Amino acid sequence: MSDPPDGLPPLREVIARHGLAAKKSLGQNFLLDLNLTGRIARAAGPLDGVTVIEIGPGPGGLTRALLAEGARKVIAVERDERAIVALDEIAQRYPGRLDVIAGDALAVDLRPSTLAGPVRVVANLPYNIATPLLVSWLTAEPWPPWFDRLVLMFQREVAERIVAPPGGKQYGRLSVLAGWRARAKILFDVHPSAFVPPPKVTSSIVELVPRPDVLPCERPLLERVTAAAFGQRRKMLRQSLKSLNADPLPLLAAAGIEPTRRAEEIPVEGFVALTRALQAAKIGS
Ligand code: SAM
Repeated sequence: MSDPPDGLPPLREVIARHGLAAKKSLGQNFLLDLNLTGRIARAAGPLDGVTVIEIGPGPGGLTRALLAEGARKVIAVERDERAIVALDEIAQRYPGRLDVIAGDALAVDLRPSTLAGPVRVVANLPYNIATPLLVSWLTAEPWPPWFDRLVLMFQREVAERIVAPPGGKQYGRLSVLAGWRARAKILFDVHPSAFVPPPKVTSSIVELVPRPDVLPCERPLLERVTAAAFGQRRKMLRQSLKSLNADPLPLLAAAGIEPTRRAEEIPVEGFVALTRALQAAKIGS
C-alpha cells in the first residue's frame, strides 16, 4: 500500500503504536481507508474557510481528510485518552488547525466561542450516542443554529428513520424533528468491511441542512405531540392524543386532521398544526 499523501503514518501504524485496539464500550469502529475518509470529507465540502466540529476522531482518519480538504480548523472532541495522544501528530502536521478537546461530546458545549466563517459538524459518530447527539443539534436554540450543515455517519437503520417520509414504518419522532428543522438526505452507504472492526450492519452518511424558515411552533410541545402520537402509533389519533391531557377532537379539528388518522400518516406540517392548536388551547384555558 502506498504511503498516505499527507506524510503522516498509515492509520494501522498509528493504531498499533498507540495501542488503540477498538473498544466496543466507546462505539469504536475505525475507518482506515483514506479514499473513503476523503470521500466523506469531500461530501461535506467545499471546506475552505469552514470550521469543522468532529465528534470522536479516534486515530484521526477522517480528521486528516478534513484538514487535507482545506478545513480552516477542525475542533475534535474525543473521549478516549489513547486517541488524544495519537492526534497530537496530526496537530503538529497542520499547525494551528486542529484543536482536540478531551471529553464527552454529550457534555461539552460544542458551539465554537469565536465564529469566523461557517461551522459544520462532520463525524463518524459513536453509534451508542449518535441519536442523542443528533437530537441535541436539531433542538439547538436559537434557530437557524450555529452550524450550516451536519454530515454524519449513522447505522443505516437510523439513517432511514431520519430521512423517512410519512406513510411507512420508519417514519417516527426523529423523522418529524429532522424534517421540521432540516432537509435531510442519505448521501451514500458504507459497507461494514470498511471499518475495523466491521460492525454488523451497513452504515450511511446523512446530510442535514438546517431550514432557515422553520414552521413556527413551540418545540417542546411539538415533541410532546409526537411522543403521544407515535407512543401508540397503531392507534387512531383521537385515542393516542388523549395522553396530552387535552381533548383531542377539537385539536384535530383545528389542525384539519381527521380523528381516525394514525401518527405515521401525518406529515410534518400536520404535527406543527396540531402543536399550534395545543398551544392555542393552553393559552385559552
Ligand atoms: N472518527 C474515527 C474514524 O472514523 O475512524 C472514529 C469513529 S468511531 C465510530 C467513534 C469515536 O467516538 C471513537 O473514537 C470513540 O472513542 C469516540 N467516542 C465515543 N463516545 C464518545 C463521547 N461520548 N464523546 C466523544 N467521543 C466519543
